[in-house]
Amino acid sequence: MRDFSADHRWLSLNTATVRKQGDLVAIIEGCGRHDIRAIDPWRDQVAAVGLDRAVRAVRDAGLELSGYCRGGMFTSDAARRTEVRDDNRRCVDEAKALGASCIVLVAGGLPQYSRPGSAVSKDIVAARAQVDDALAEMLDYARQAKLPLAIEPLHPAYAADRACVNTTKQALDICDRLDPERTGALGVALDVYHIWWDPDLAGQIARAGRDRLLAFHVCDWLVPTRDILNDRGMMGDGVIDIRAVRGAVEAQGYAGYSEIEIFSDDWWEKPMDDVLRTCIERHRTVV
Ligand code: ZN
Repeated sequence: MRDFSADHRWLSLNTATVRKQGDLVAIIEGCGRHDIRAIDPWRDQVAAVGLDRAVRAVRDAGLELSGYCRGGMFTSDAARRTEVRDDNRRCVDEAKALGASCIVLVAGGLPQYSRPGSAVSKDIVAARAQVDDALAEMLDYARQAKLPLAIEPLHPAYAADRACVNTTKQALDICDRLDPERTGALGVALDVYHIWWDPDLAGQIARAGRDRLLAFHVCDWLVPTRDILNDRGMMGDGVIDIRAVRGAVEAQGYAGYSEIEIFSDDWWEKPMDDVLRTCIERHRTVV
């Protein structure tokens, strides 16, 4: 397992962590001040400054992208299938322009939440089948662009509104169905917030192996969690044994970035430099 205590060479910043403090260009400048070498930007943040400007800012700063957030939201009613396909193709194009190492995929929950305006459905079984179909279609496009796709299983609390792929096993089952040869085109993004509770986690990380482990996200699970979406904890402030999960992932050969992704009304209130300093300190001491 890598020693993170001496520097933050392997820290990547998911830009949602400080999205209320500044736009993407301001966040990239913040990374420069704190010697952060990698980011994972969100599509809306890129759109807000314009793709060309985002590409230039990333290039001028010499940043790597540990991922691009996010593709997916595959579930919709029939009228919106083309919209879903085209939206995900644009996501691939943007990620390619930005030089992202992979696209993080959030599968989508029930259609009416995943793609607002879709007809109301309670059929989560159908939603899961639809994820397979729409993801297969996106995978064809992403393969041509040589852009790996990383399915991020989300905590079951999000099954309705964000992702009906809720465990690492489920995500890996999709990978095995759509990419049985393990070509590297499809894998998982493991976020400790979503997976730490899973009794099957160690076995599934071993099953994933190096070629399916495309991204690793960290934050912490606070007790109590006041808001399932926007009350994530800073690493070390909650109950997740982050180092144990990182150890399991790295035992499979994962050697990429440890990406900090914190959606938190508390941390969004603080100055960007304070947040980045704390991220670095916790990365060195508890990640
Ligand atoms: Zn994540």
